[in-house]
Amino acid sequence: MNNSNENLKRRKFLKNALAVGAGALAVGTSTVIAHETESSKKTNAEKIKVLTVNGEVIEVEKPDTSCKIDPCSPTKGIEARKGIPGRSFVMVIDLARCKNARKCIEGCQKGHDLLPDQEWMKVYLMKDNPESEPYWFPKNCFHCDNPPCVKVCPVGATFKRSDNIVLVDVNRCIGCKFCISACPYSTRILNWAHKESYSDNDPNYSPETSVPGQHSTIGKCDFCPDRSRVGKLPYCASSCPMGAIYFGDKNEDAVTNGEETLRFKKLIKERVGYRYLEELGTEPNVYYLPPVNRMFPYERGLNNLSDEKKETILNSINK
Ligand code: SF4
Repeated sequence: MNNSNENLKRRKFLKNALAVGAGALAVGTSTVIAHETESSKKTNAEKIKVLTVNGEVIEVEKPDTSCKIDPCSPTKGIEARKGIPGRSFVMVIDLARCKNARKCIEGCQKGHDLLPDQEWMKVYLMKDNPESEPYWFPKNCFHCDNPPCVKVCPVGATFKRSDNIVLVDVNRCIGCKFCISACPYSTRILNWAHKESYSDNDPNYSPETSVPGQHSTIGKCDFCPDRSRVGKLPYCASSCPMGAIYFGDKNEDAVTNGEETLRFKKLIKERVGYRYLEELGTEPNVYYLPPVNRMFPYERGLNNLSDEKKETILNSINK
């Protein structure tokens, strides 16, 4: 196989295979992405080749990655509240790469059957001080380790799982909006309008997919655990044309944007990653890389907005 074909195959694989979930391997701290070749399958069914974060291809014993919960589908009921065993999901957003393309929003809306005005991922124009340049700031639910939203829910509809994910079970949600008030990051929205696709009794509903939604219940970013189960990135990360959104597993110390896979701790240390308003003690699981050496001037992102929204944003930034 020539080099370009090999590269193409590898890139295609990385785009679809996340270093977390059912298709990922935990073979020490250095191995993050499984790369199973046709030849290894034929010659030795018990061995596979894996790609380390250092770019080396090594051969290891094939682990048992079969889904314990049949058949790798989103879980429901009490199972959906437990989390994927051994996982500690985390997201890293590189602000230097974001140009407000808004594809993350579109991907999320399509995947979760949201209306255009229902944004679980929002992109704000930020300016830290009068002297600094503005930059684009995507913001979703931070899946906090100490989530105020969970503490105030009177019916246990929103809950924290062992894999870091905070979900909402709309079959329990009574739409009281306490969680909206408690979230210091304003990441939750109420499904206030009726939609054709809403259903109160759909047997296919799972808190892991958040689909179908229900009228007068709460919605928010769910980190797409149903996609992690089958080795895919969340909709926002796989939709971003700039590769600004990395997703991965703290236990494996690895995050990927589908094009490159990096050590999580090293990335945060070297790029001085931070968590938004972490002084609140909420322990968010979304990290930001500061917008230094930006790849694009912020003005380009304005083209993606309606005139009305553009004016609102510019007025707020110029105050
Ligand atoms: Fe809850 Fe808000 Fe934290 Fe998400 S960001 S877990 S909604 S407090």
